[in-house]
Amino acid sequence: MIEKQASCEDDGEPLLLPVAEARQRLLTSLQPVCEAVELPLSEALYRVLAADIVSPVDVPPQANSAMDGYALQRTSIPASGERSLQVVGTAWAGQPFTGQVGEGQAVRIFTGGIMPVGCDTVVIQEHVRCRTAPTDGPGLIDIDSEVIAGKNVRQAGEDVACGQMVLPRGRQLHAADIGVLASLGIARVNVVRPLKVAFFSTGDELCALDEHVPGTPLAPGKLFDSNRYTMAALLRGLHVEVMDLGIVRDNESDTRDALLRASADADVVISSGGVSAGDADFVTRVFHEVGQVSFWKLAMRPGRPLAFGKVGQAAFFGLPGNPVAVMVTFLEFVQPALKHLAGMHDLDTPLLPARCLSTLRKSPGRVEYQRGIMRLDEQGELVVESTGKQGAGRLSSMSAANCLIVIASEMDGVQLGDRVQVQPFHGLLPG
Ligand code: AMP
Ligand code: MG
Repeated sequence: MIEKQASCEDDGEPLLLPVAEARQRLLTSLQPVCEAVELPLSEALYRVLAADIVSPVDVPPQANSAMDGYALQRTSIPASGERSLQVVGTAWAGQPFTGQVGEGQAVRIFTGGIMPVGCDTVVIQEHVRCRTAPTDGPGLIDIDSEVIAGKNVRQAGEDVACGQMVLPRGRQLHAADIGVLASLGIARVNVVRPLKVAFFSTGDELCALDEHVPGTPLAPGKLFDSNRYTMAALLRGLHVEVMDLGIVRDNESDTRDALLRASADADVVISSGGVSAGDADFVTRVFHEVGQVSFWKLAMRPGRPLAFGKVGQAAFFGLPGNPVAVMVTFLEFVQPALKHLAGMHDLDTPLLPARCLSTLRKSPGRVEYQRGIMRLDEQGELVVESTGKQGAGRLSSMSAANCLIVIASEMDGVQLGDRVQVQPFHGLLPG
């Protein structure tokens, strides 16, 4: 009988590194970039704040009306029945009423108009009877006892108060943040400089799209290099500067050259392929020569082999070659690491509980990231179905999916109706 060696098909292999531990190890070994650049606000979308933002002003600056109507003081509201008020002027948005308003008086006011001195309440125009023609000038209105004191007024500083910490260092600015900063009058912001990320694919079997004559068949044994395109697309979503170093062939000198070239300029170097147990010894040799790189066997599927360490000053991630494994290891390790390096604190993507509508095969001892399609069912419950066959080479399963089904290490398969956790691919805001 043949004595069997350890392989990625084995279940419960004792030396596998748990995902959480691997993640912790790499985050603690990576020092965030601290150089900052000052940018106009209009160019700061998705950049990471290098310093806390404290509001220099109140927003809104003064109390103003939330509705079109009439401003008055609460003592003018009748305890019962109706009362007539004299309209003494108009407050437009951007054109305040500068007079005094006494009891028994009101000011015609429009949304955003500053509350006149002496007024603390706005009654909406629909709740008023105009005794004179509804002009913008002086006149007479009737209100009743149902007017609520203090209503329809936006108080000064109720959105953001002067001195309030608005956005912390490490925050990646999204669309609403840009708007909030503009509302504070902040025209320039200090952000962490963008990370530079170099990447390449490895493999003698790979054909670059730009080297292929359209319509001609691939040579036997060749396949298109998709990983570099996936990687570039994933990196674009992280708003880093990228350096695409192309395809590196499976030999010592090309691998060494690529690593040295990449690490000379980049903060992070990412490769795909060439880190499995079956790969040529030169990979290990080159990595030991040009850097300090460990070859991990992770307790996860897909994505068991992962190389991580330093090449020169750059952090290095050697992802597996299988296209799904590239995406999963990128999402679970490289993405949080890049966010951490860019100074972000919020590294985790949400895990949502869902009911699984598929039976999923899985062995205990490793976390599995299966491709799923999640949706709300008729009862409004989050449910998820498998995309079908889950081979690490089936990139189309990733394209069909809208989430990863994360099946915990200890679980021994998933039965129909079981609770699982999912990681959605998309959020609401773009970016
Ligand atoms: P490796 O980890 O280098 O043994 O690669 C594992 C498998 O992943 C290979 O047999 C290829 O089928 C596939 N693969 C590796 N690199 C790429 C790539 N850049 N694009 C598409 N498939 C790849
Ligand atoms: Mg290879």
